[in-house]
Amino acid sequence: MKQSDSNAANKTRCGYVAIVGRPNVGKSTLLNHLLRQKISITSRKPQTTRHRIVGISTMENVQCIYVDTPGLQDNFKKALNRIMNETVVSAIKDVDAILFVVERLLWTEADERVLQTLRNTKTPLILIINKIDKVKEKHKLLPHIADLKEKSDFAEIVPASALDGHNLDTLEKLLSNYLPVGPFLFPEDQVTDRSSRFMAAEIIREKVTRQLGDELPYEVSVEIEKFSQEGPVLHIHALILVEKKGQKQILIGKDGDRLKQIGSAARPDMEKAFDSKVMLNLWAKVKAGWADDERALKSLGYIED
Ligand code: GDP
Ligand code: MG
Repeated sequence: MKQSDSNAANKTRCGYVAIVGRPNVGKSTLLNHLLRQKISITSRKPQTTRHRIVGISTMENVQCIYVDTPGLQDNFKKALNRIMNETVVSAIKDVDAILFVVERLLWTEADERVLQTLRNTKTPLILIINKIDKVKEKHKLLPHIADLKEKSDFAEIVPASALDGHNLDTLEKLLSNYLPVGPFLFPEDQVTDRSSRFMAAEIIREKVTRQLGDELPYEVSVEIEKFSQEGPVLHIHALILVEKKGQKQILIGKDGDRLKQIGSAARPDMEKAFDSKVMLNLWAKVKAGWADDERALKSLGYIED
């Protein structure tokens, strides 16, 4: 069916979007910002699309379904390298747009590798120059954008800040142009249980990073052991995985203070995200070589059971 332009304005658009980029460029922050307050997580129904959905944003007449790209994810290197080839390809094959995130005025080898991974896709690539709030020398931005234009045929280049939200409205508007006109694929208030677990893990991870920052010389991993709504209370049990005994002690803190603080910072965020009272239990656990642990990946929805 052909849509005239005037007609299309009243039509709904709906499509799949992947967020890719090397570690630490701000993908999770961006996703959280794009999803925050635009969804309420109400459904525990398992999902049956071939994509791994991490969140759905429905705003007015646009539904944007964000999908995971495990092979391009940061810290699951070892296990993921094994499953990477199939999953990267399948994760980005059928999406309608790819948000490729880089940061400040940088273009690193890792950024280049991500671009190479995307080389054969015909999907529109929207390059996001994130952390623009940290760019003090604004006059260098335009020449940098000119350089980036040389690297690939980007559909759009958007400077933004995932942290303070700068330009994200513009990004969402641009992005909607790449989503096909069509009916919503999900009810407006629905995302998956897997996505809820993922969000719960991300919230905890964010609080751990915020609390410990420099004291943990690596990115932590969070495993959701239990996620169950029991009456008015959502029970969440999570393991925070560390690599060494000493790190576990740091994480727990004196008399468990650290872990308690992390829990009390995470719980209100969860209650807001899941629109439910939350009972949160956190444990610290030493897990050598967790990156190679398929159970951890499964719990985050990176691989199927
Ligand atoms: P990921 O590894 O790509 O998922 O990156 P994260 O979302 O975990 O972000 C990595 C770090 O960059 C965190 O400390 C974020 O708070 C920070 N960050 C993300 N986006 C921005 C931004 O726009 N501006 C600034 N200043 N920091 C940001
Ligand atoms: Mg991340």
